[in-house]
Amino acid sequence: MSNKTIPVASLGFPRIGRHRELKFALEGFWSGKISEPELLETAAKLRAENWALQQQKGITHIPSNDFSLYDHVLDTAVMVGAIPSVYAWTGGEVSLSTYFAMARGSQSEGHAGCGHGHEGHAHHGQGVPALEMTKWFDTNYHYMVPEVSEDQHFALTSQKPVDHFLEAKALGIHTRPVILGPVTFLKLAKARGAAFKPLDLLARLLPVYEELLRRLHAAGADWVQVDEPVAALDLSEGERHALTVSYQALSKAAPDLKILVATYFGGLEDNLEAVTALPVAGLHIDLVRAPGELEPVLKALPAESVLSLGVIDGRNIWRADLAAIIGKLEAAIATRGAASFQIAPSCSLLHVPVDLELETGLDADLKSWLSFATQKLGELATLGRAFGEGKATVTAELEAATKVIAERASSPKVTDVAVRSRIATIGEADRKRTSAFAERQKVQSQAIALPLFPTTTIGSFPQTPEVRKARSAHSKGALTDAQYESFLQKETEATIRWQEEIGLDVLVHGEFERNDMVQYFGEQLSGFAFTQHAWVQSYGSRYVRPPIIFGDVSRPKPMTVRWWEYSQSLTEKPVKGMLTGPVTILNWSFVRDDIARSVTCRQIALAIRDEVNDLEAAGAKMIQIDEAALREGLPLRHRDWQDYLGWAVESFRICSSGVEDRTQVHTHMCYSEFNQIIDAIAAMDADVISIETSRSKMELLDAFRTYKYPNQIGPGVYDIHSPRVPAVGEMVDLLALARQRLDDRQLWINPDCGLKTRKWEEVRPALVNMVAAAAELRRAV
Ligand code: GLN
Ligand code: ZN
Repeated sequence: MSNKTIPVASLGFPRIGRHRELKFALEGFWSGKISEPELLETAAKLRAENWALQQQKGITHIPSNDFSLYDHVLDTAVMVGAIPSVYAWTGGEVSLSTYFAMARGSQSEGHAGCGHGHEGHAHHGQGVPALEMTKWFDTNYHYMVPEVSEDQHFALTSQKPVDHFLEAKALGIHTRPVILGPVTFLKLAKARGAAFKPLDLLARLLPVYEELLRRLHAAGADWVQVDEPVAALDLSEGERHALTVSYQALSKAAPDLKILVATYFGGLEDNLEAVTALPVAGLHIDLVRAPGELEPVLKALPAESVLSLGVIDGRNIWRADLAAIIGKLEAAIATRGAASFQIAPSCSLLHVPVDLELETGLDADLKSWLSFATQKLGELATLGRAFGEGKATVTAELEAATKVIAERASSPKVTDVAVRSRIATIGEADRKRTSAFAERQKVQSQAIALPLFPTTTIGSFPQTPEVRKARSAHSKGALTDAQYESFLQKETEATIRWQEEIGLDVLVHGEFERNDMVQYFGEQLSGFAFTQHAWVQSYGSRYVRPPIIFGDVSRPKPMTVRWWEYSQSLTEKPVKGMLTGPVTILNWSFVRDDIARSVTCRQIALAIRDEVNDLEAAGAKMIQIDEAALREGLPLRHRDWQDYLGWAVESFRICSSGVEDRTQVHTHMCYSEFNQIIDAIAAMDADVISIETSRSKMELLDAFRTYKYPNQIGPGVYDIHSPRVPAVGEMVDLLALARQRLDDRQLWINPDCGLKTRKWEEVRPALVNMVAAAAELRRAV
């Protein structure tokens, strides 16, 4: 390679299509509307478009095999033959129906989840269950968790990376295949049955990878990108050793095939020595998340190795300061020579929307500050030209970027002085309820008459097709505001009536007016913007459009008070105010890169605090602040946990501490792993917390018992992820398990999560049974 050029790579491109073509093809196929060949044709077309686009934009290392019909981890599991026996695979090529059975279960009811598309794992009805699903590192992308058994036999069952390489080649595009590395694959896998570590199977897995590399080489590949994001995690000595062993083996498999080990989502830190010593041709590092690692990596990296510089943010949507990036890289590139480097995004562009040009409704200034996947290709190419042909060839591009960055920094749309000064005045008293829980509990039990084992629900009631239809008609203008409003009122009233009728103790309004638990609030807050087409894959065919937080956040006016007042006017029973918490709003949005996340979180907290106070002033005795995403926001490195939990808890306390002792603050968290964060949960000091427990047999309450958690808890007794109606006896049994671990006075009775994804036919009998279970319990004490 001449010294005049520097290769430019993209580590992966969104698969979903500019117009969500993949989603529609998949759903069409699942519902029998299109055939398998039609689905595959759409997929091939999307790949061809992505390759052509990247080529046209000037990317020289264009990825292949970054495409997946559902999930790249699932693809890898299938490719190496890690197919659990329930899927009745008998060897040979894996059919699409087996593939989708692993993804969605067969006789599928799909992943109902908590209805937000961010739920931590999959759930299933009858039939063959899907693999579990969980978050891909600290992103909002979910992968299917591979399952391996102690006697696991691996075999190369699919040639997908080779096929896609050849497919591109036939189109005249030479690609760099991407595969998921063996150590990351096993680290993400789950051991089935006996207690063993999936990583113990490494020696059996490596030959499959070796075979794959040989085939890629035979097909004409010169580079292969092997993703090992585990290098950004806290690794044990054994795991680090596994990386060494793997690449010693893989580098010998096809000696002329150059391996680029791609690390991302964080710095290498204590793994740096091991990773830079891997016997491979190239290493990719994430210089957006770990800008300080350029020097130490360069120092450690052998002279002949290529370093891929991840400098364009693959996780966020802001335009890059190209001149600043050049300034940071210039010296190193001059010293080592351009041929020793590649310019790249920090990670795959999978996590950003496809194309900013589709947005026609965005504020023009805001739009000029943004860069989606397609625009990021352009930024990469500009950097490539700057280092190849010289900065002078891209003066206009650099100046344009610099100008926009400066405009954004000084824009009055970004900074709100009132918010800034308010943040600065937050004091100890703003983060603390007036009295301790024991005292509050006394006041609250006088203010609100509740029986032992009070029953309630988590907030939402079924979002029926009628509700969705009305919402979409309203947004299209086919329903007037007044018509929509009266429709929502009718739904709400019917739901309040029904809750009274079956004897629930604490009611909710049902959340019919909400499109989504984050969007609904974001749309009413200053500092947030919403897109029309900026979809990002959450899992499979489920995509989300995260809000963009671009400026200081504040609440111009009350958001939910009206709905609470209306609902409470219909009943004597207490109705809970219902809000989404600051940490969840933050974690499910694209955030600013010009101020710390913790600062934005505190700003949102103040906005929610205003809402909480207004609800109290309107007469609400109970206010629930959901923090569904608090746990999933945990940083990848344990060392960073305390810092995150510190400001996350503080933010929750900011919004919950403006009320009187008599006001009962609830929170809800739909997950079931609290062991490592129980201190933080206790520090939130919510009067009542509802959590997901029905599928874990109340075992997670052990963490609360061991901790001697003093406040009240509603452990979910009804798995809302399944259409199954739980019997009274089942819930009584679960509650008996809960009573072994908690004091009776602590216990609330509620489902695991909101009911929006369920049908009324399922919800009605289930809640009737839940109320009956509470009655049975009360009789027994
Ligand atoms: N209040 C919300 C609901 O019931 C909570 C949802 C969630 O935690 N995911 O839908
Ligand atoms: Zn939930």
